[in-house]
Amino acid sequence: MHHHNLSKKYFEKAKEVIPGGVNSPVRACKSVGCDPVFIERGEGCFLYDADGNKYIDYVCSWGPMILGHCHPEVCGAVSEAMYQGMSFGAPTWKEVELAEKIVSMVPSIEKVRLVNSGTEATMSAIRLARGYTGRKKIIKFDGCYHGHADSFLVKAGSGVATLGIPGSPGVPEEIVSNTIALPYNQLDPVKEVVSKQGEEIAAIIVEPVAANMGVVPPSEGFLEGLREITKEYGILLIFDEVITGFRLAPGGAQQYFNVMPDITCLGKIIGGGMPVGAYGGKKEIMDYIAPDGPVYQAGTLSGNPLATAAGLATLNVLSRAGIYEVLEERASFLADGIKERAKKYGIKCQVQSISSMMTCFFGVSDPVKGFSSELDTDMYAKFYRLMLDAGIYVAPSQYEASFVSLAHNWDVINKTLEVIDKVFKNL
Ligand SMILES: *Cc1c(COP(=O)(O)O)cnc(C)c1O
Repeated sequence: MHHHNLSKKYFEKAKEVIPGGVNSPVRACKSVGCDPVFIERGEGCFLYDADGNKYIDYVCSWGPMILGHCHPEVCGAVSEAMYQGMSFGAPTWKEVELAEKIVSMVPSIEKVRLVNSGTEATMSAIRLARGYTGRKKIIKFDGCYHGHADSFLVKAGSGVATLGIPGSPGVPEEIVSNTIALPYNQLDPVKEVVSKQGEEIAAIIVEPVAANMGVVPPSEGFLEGLREITKEYGILLIFDEVITGFRLAPGGAQQYFNVMPDITCLGKIIGGGMPVGAYGGKKEIMDYIAPDGPVYQAGTLSGNPLATAAGLATLNVLSRAGIYEVLEERASFLADGIKERAKKYGIKCQVQSISSMMTCFFGVSDPVKGFSSELDTDMYAKFYRLMLDAGIYVAPSQYEASFVSLAHNWDVINKTLEVIDKVFKNL
């Protein structure tokens, strides 16, 4: 049994000076019925909390830490950059190197603009799509999360789903009235809306593998269908690859499924743990951004030297041969092991995984194809608490993904399955 005395004390203090005690809502662990642990440091696939407890980390900072914590090449690159000066607000060569790297890895990107978060990337991509097409409306899908910009807070997944709120006060009706939310993985509703309002729709934005309603891969033909429909109506197709980018394959989901969007949004892994986002696409579209074009978008810290160094070092490691095969092999062994144990103990759940990301959906016996409100979140909460107590740190919400990093070696994967055996027995 772990003790969390210091974490508890820190959280009490935190609540006095930070709203909810956290700087991003899901971290408060409300939906799993316990207080958060405060992390002191990470190393490889392990986290150490303020009370000295050690955990195997399957959150990986919600995706970015695909190489594990404190990867020597990333740390080396960042410390070297740090002593050259932390920010200039002027061009640096490293930005060009990172842009070249992104262009070489992500098949549909010809030009790319760096920003500071995934939210900035999606927000800017939508502005660009609207500016480029001269249209106002966008289509998004229920349970897909695209950051917290106003336009996207309609049936958003992630923290919004975890808290069970439909949208958010503070977002004007006028803004979300331009956002059409449709069910994920269904083409017919898209066809119907587009056949009536196609000329008004600037973009369809989609997570090519949904990961903010738990991991939900695209159904056969869904992404291809979206590509066809958007082409027909002059609508831009935006892949929000903030999670899938550099996760499913070096070139992200677009390479994995061989479907090319017009604009790609990146984040998370692209910064290797530093705050970086990016959006990119065809030259012709990207040239619509200021200073070459009329669509304004800027950032004092965009392309920051430390962030750029961490990102470039991370992508360099990920470009080496065999990395994705290793990740996939370990993750699918883990997913299969969880499925076996669920069966052994008669736990009603669906384990859905693709590449090195997965979710165990409790309370359902059929594959989850879109946002589901049928999930047994109480059982997830119990699962979370038992896992934490046994030294395994998973997402504090049923509506999130777990990630395997390169630092999760076979010993760690096997250890995890031993723990899951015990946890499922007691669930
Ligand atoms: C995390 C996430 C975002 C938002 O990125 P932030 O860096 O948290 O602003 C956007 N889209 C998807 C698919 C995400 O998973």
